Amino acid sequence: MSLMGQMMQMPLLISSLLTHAARHNGDIEVVSKRVEGDIHRTNWAEVELRSRKLAQALARLGCEAGDRIGTLAWNGYRHLEIYYGVSGSELVCHTINPRLFPQQVAWIINDAQDKVIFVDLNILPLVEKLVPSLPCVKHVVLMCDRDNMPREHSLPSLLCYEDLIDAEDGHYTWPSFDENAAASICYTSGTTGNPKGAVYSHRSSVLHAYAVALPDAMCLKGTDVVLPVVPMFHVNAWGTPYAAALVGCKFVLPGHHLDGESLYKLFESEGVTMSAGVPTIWMGLLNYVKANNLKFSTFKTTVIGGAACPPSMIRTFENDYNVEVVHAWGMTELSPVGTLGRLKSKHANLAPEAKQKILEKQGKSVFGVDMRIVDAEGNVQPWNGVATGDLEVRGHWVIDSYFNVDKSPLHDGWFPTGDVATIDSDGYMQITDRSKDVIKSGGEWISSIELENVLMAHPAVHEAAAIAAHHPKWDERPLMVVVKKPDAEVSKEELLAFFKGKIPNWQTPDDIVFVDELPHTATGKLYKLKLREQFRDHKLPTA
Ligand code: ADP
Repeated sequence: MSLMGQMMQMPLLISSLLTHAARHNGDIEVVSKRVEGDIHRTNWAEVELRSRKLAQALARLGCEAGDRIGTLAWNGYRHLEIYYGVSGSELVCHTINPRLFPQQVAWIINDAQDKVIFVDLNILPLVEKLVPSLPCVKHVVLMCDRDNMPREHSLPSLLCYEDLIDAEDGHYTWPSFDENAAASICYTSGTTGNPKGAVYSHRSSVLHAYAVALPDAMCLKGTDVVLPVVPMFHVNAWGTPYAAALVGCKFVLPGHHLDGESLYKLFESEGVTMSAGVPTIWMGLLNYVKANNLKFSTFKTTVIGGAACPPSMIRTFENDYNVEVVHAWGMTELSPVGTLGRLKSKHANLAPEAKQKILEKQGKSVFGVDMRIVDAEGNVQPWNGVATGDLEVRGHWVIDSYFNVDKSPLHDGWFPTGDVATIDSDGYMQITDRSKDVIKSGGEWISSIELENVLMAHPAVHEAAAIAAHHPKWDERPLMVVVKKPDAEVSKEELLAFFKGKIPNWQTPDDIVFVDELPHTATGKLYKLKLREQFRDHKLPTA
């Protein structure tokens, strides 16, 4: 029989992150660029006090343990208070992506049965349209002060966030409860069917916060100034609102001002050292910085994930701007971080090119997430950097079941991610594709990500997507859809020639078409499903 450990049992609760931040780093700033347009400054102590008041206000509105509370909001201090005030009081914070189609937003709110919805000023028009189809929603709260409340709106009632806070005294003690209780819910974006809810527990979220803060992960320190560009509705801004409280660093929230110029100015004025976001958002920032011949004075590290980061972007950040890129992989079902790319000490003396090759991969798993690759029959594949297989994961913050779905998503106790990957002998995982995006030419697979990475390095290319086009002999062959840089001139033949020597000849795309814009999902990823529909009848010259 085991000898039992004799240490205290304290539940891992979200509220403890905030009380720690308030007690030990209470004066450290939380800065927000507000929807109202101005810069707002507060600190961790004040965020904690106001989160307690919010918890009181929610109780006064009749919310009870387990109730879901929705948010349709950008990154800002009020959203941060909702994260903590809601989860901390045993309610469940359900962040919703306002960029989804309105019917999807309504579907998600009804599925989660949100009782209260918090809304940022410029998202109110969407909610006005949806509320008649949301019988579960009892209260809509507008995230502003009395002066900014609209005189006219079509809702039966609209509460004012600051009025709710002002009415409370803050005499509230964060409750203690089971660490396995739900803390928050995020829905998958639904690009492949109906959105599905992933329900994170307090325990999984706190463990995730510990893990992502580690030096080989995001490497967050109390002296950092962290600005999540990734929205707080995109898988909890990758856990940064929790990890920032854990380490007690300055936290900067950019609101909906995510264009290159606004971001650059905020990075400089607030001394941002570390950031995180999807590749598309960084294109805007890099273009702005280059066009205006600027440099970053404090920005040191950025975590890029959510979609494959083109190697050319890693090089530009590192070589031209001295910003270290940490390539990360994750998904909603992992809340979200699974792997991050950083070098090992044995790589220290490698040539820059060889180092770059390693950093292009999606990286090593953080402790807490285990991974494997399996073939179509479920046979586990070797970690040799060559064998590809379906990526499966398990761990402390990996989904066990979806909200309101009976059927288990698991395969043999592992969660199948839908991604195809290789893993090398050092444990570096590389995504070759989402399984539905792989181009199946004859019996062979071509990685759409690899083709895109080649063209993204061409000076005339702004963005490139590789999709499978129908071919009478090979079933599928690669078609590239390309957006040129403004004023750049380049021909299809030049781009095709650019592949020479970079990939095996037989993988060279069969055709290239130029478009003005590529479709993106609500989280800023290439919307391949839509592209495939758009080019369903495309006749390849090789067909
Ligand atoms: P959704 O699946 O709803 O689009 P997620 O944000 O959960 O939203 O997306 C997770 C998926 O994004 C992963 O399964 C993977 O296909 C892709 N992804 C995330 N990070 C990377 C990365 N660094 N490289 C390549 N693909 C990535």
